Amino acid sequence: DTQNHVSLLIETVDFAAKKHKSQKRKDIAQTPYINHPIGVARILTLEGGVTDLNVIQAALLHDTVEDTNTTFEEIEEIFGRKIRDIVYEVTDDKTLPKLERKRLQIEHAPHCTYEAKLVKLADKLYNLRDLMHQTPRGWTKERVNEYFVWASKVVARLRGTNKELESSLDLLFRKRGVVT
Ligand code: NDP
Ligand code: ZN
Repeated sequence: DTQNHVSLLIETVDFAAKKHKSQKRKDIAQTPYINHPIGVARILTLEGGVTDLNVIQAALLHDTVEDTNTTFEEIEEIFGRKIRDIVYEVTDDKTLPKLERKRLQIEHAPHCTYEAKLVKLADKLYNLRDLMHQTPRGWTKERVNEYFVWASKVVARLRGTNKELESSLDLLFRKRGVVT
């Protein structure tokens, strides 16, 4: 019921906020990191029309294992197998070199579950909008452009998942002159 959903949602935001508490985004303003997973979840509800609570919770948790000391076991114990599995699908293997991780995101994209594809689309949309408005500390214009090109390759292999999110992404690629 609704009360349970509200309570689960608050538990999830609280968990993510605590895990990311000392982290900042890469922007000059040093935005608190938690703004990102909350923003990704908001893109899914507000723009993507997503109502599946598992997907929203996975979005809130999507960078906890990749960027904090959180383990998949911990996610499973607290939030269950389903959410653990979605978070697993959207987590890069940090033992691999950066370029290999980027390549694997392109390779794996079409094989992801519907739920993981939604989180991936919203994550890319959030990050690309961020990059449209500001350049991260130490990044050149070329690097920003490379990121757009790489993201467009991932998104190309996530198509047929969510019309609204995909058209918003297409709009950004068009604005940047990235051919999709
Ligand atoms: P990173 O993967 O290091 O950074 C991009 C990620 O940073 C995003 O996916 C996002 O991930 C996170 N992020 C945090 N803050 C912001 C923000 N304000 N705006 C956007 N994203 C943010 O960078 P790259 O994608 O460039 O990956 C590194 C690759 O770049 C390597 O392959 C390397 O070879 C190459 N490289 C290129 C350089 C160049 O000048 N061309 C220089 C150095 C490296 P999340 O959603 O997980 O937070
Ligand atoms: Zn993210």
